[in-house]
Amino acid sequence: MRIAMIGTGYVGLVSGTCFSEFGTDVVCVDKDENKIEGLKKGVIPIFEPGLDTLVKNNSEAGRLTFSTDLAAAAKDADAIFIAVGTPPGENDGQADLSYVYQAAKEIAEVIDGYKVIITKSTVPVGTGRAVERIIRETRPDADFDVVSNPEFLREGAAINDFMRPDRVVIGAETKRAQDIMAELYRPLYLIETPILFTKLETSELIKYAGNAFLATKISFINQMADLCEKVGADVHQVAKGIGLDGRIGRKFLHAGPGYGGSCFPKDTQALAYTAREAGAPVSLVEDVISYNSARKRQMAEKVIVQCGGSVAGKKIAVLGLTFKPNTDDMRDSPSLDIIPLLQEKGAQISAYDPEGMAEAEELLTDVSYGQNAYEIMSDADALVIITEWNEFRRLDLDRVKGLLKSPVMVDLRNIYNPDEMKEAGFDYLCVGRPLSA
Ligand code: NAD
Repeated sequence: MRIAMIGTGYVGLVSGTCFSEFGTDVVCVDKDENKIEGLKKGVIPIFEPGLDTLVKNNSEAGRLTFSTDLAAAAKDADAIFIAVGTPPGENDGQADLSYVYQAAKEIAEVIDGYKVIITKSTVPVGTGRAVERIIRETRPDADFDVVSNPEFLREGAAINDFMRPDRVVIGAETKRAQDIMAELYRPLYLIETPILFTKLETSELIKYAGNAFLATKISFINQMADLCEKVGADVHQVAKGIGLDGRIGRKFLHAGPGYGGSCFPKDTQALAYTAREAGAPVSLVEDVISYNSARKRQMAEKVIVQCGGSVAGKKIAVLGLTFKPNTDDMRDSPSLDIIPLLQEKGAQISAYDPEGMAEAEELLTDVSYGQNAYEIMSDADALVIITEWNEFRRLDLDRVKGLLKSPVMVDLRNIYNPDEMKEAGFDYLCVGRPLSA
């Protein structure tokens, strides 16, 4: 069995590497020559814990190779995964499928013999059928099946998520394609991973429905946090109190600055678009989208209020820029909204993030960066925590207080305790958690 993984980004590189760890021969293809040249030398283009060792081991074992030659890789493969980006398009949240369709065309031109062509990218309902059509139009004689196999890994925990998933979803409509997919995921049968076989459309929709549900859960607890602030309740305890109900579950009930990242924002938008087009609008998801974008403004307001009503001419130190810890991914991070909003109001921003600063430099302007958490705090009027990296959870509070011009902290991830912070002499504000008395 041989796999060609087209697109060697967060998903393609992790999935390809993990399949090779399962013992399958994998060639990861990308059109970005620098990325492939680097990978051939063992340079990992993204920050993902544990990935470097797996890439090294499987490359040395000869099971994992890297190439820019899609044609050769597809020709030799039994299964061809499309794992290219599906960014938001220009209109109404519609996903931009040009990379997927381009990859499909390139594959169509070279395939000979039976191939399974699998969309691993997150693609709207109907994309699998469109890929089928593109290949059929280019090569009426081709022998192939198109399969949908959405990926559910989370950046920062991607390897574990791929190797021990809650489930695998496979939209495959022929026995031949189902058998190949079952063989590729056979190592997961040993750990009794549920594998759900569906038709193409169902599999495609499962991915969007899952992400929209999680985005809704986050937005729900964020609205509860807003309410907690008004009525003096504690959102941590509300989350625990409802989350212990097995029908609700404890995960994704952390109040914060709103969801971000490369998936939830674009996938909720794309689902809403699909639903509108299909004449079955998902008004709940539409509400989640608008609430979440308003929330970023609300978070900037929180900082302004905590700074006495104005940040004009004030220095604000920001800890954490990536959309979550343990990744260097800055796509749609809340920091990209909150920081410019504070700058608009006249704030000067100094920031530190363990992995996101190189990317942030491309996306933000007029920010000064430090080499560690403390370096950015000197003479700052307030400290704002946007991303909960572990190293920010146990700051030396005396040192922080000594560095800040005034001991003002806005903790948008609730990683400190309001009572303890008061005790430590901070003017501390978090999300949905009052002082106990
Ligand atoms: P990415 O931008 O990190 O990687 C995509 C890669 O595809 C890039 O390196 C690009 O150069 C390459 N590419 C584009 N067109 C190509 C072509 N014709 N031939 C070869 N390479 C090509 O994107 P990502 O984060 O890995 O996401 C990929 C897909 O997976 C998206 O649909 C995304 O929604 C989905 N997804 C992402 C995550 C995540 O956490 N990042 C999780 C689940 C699903």
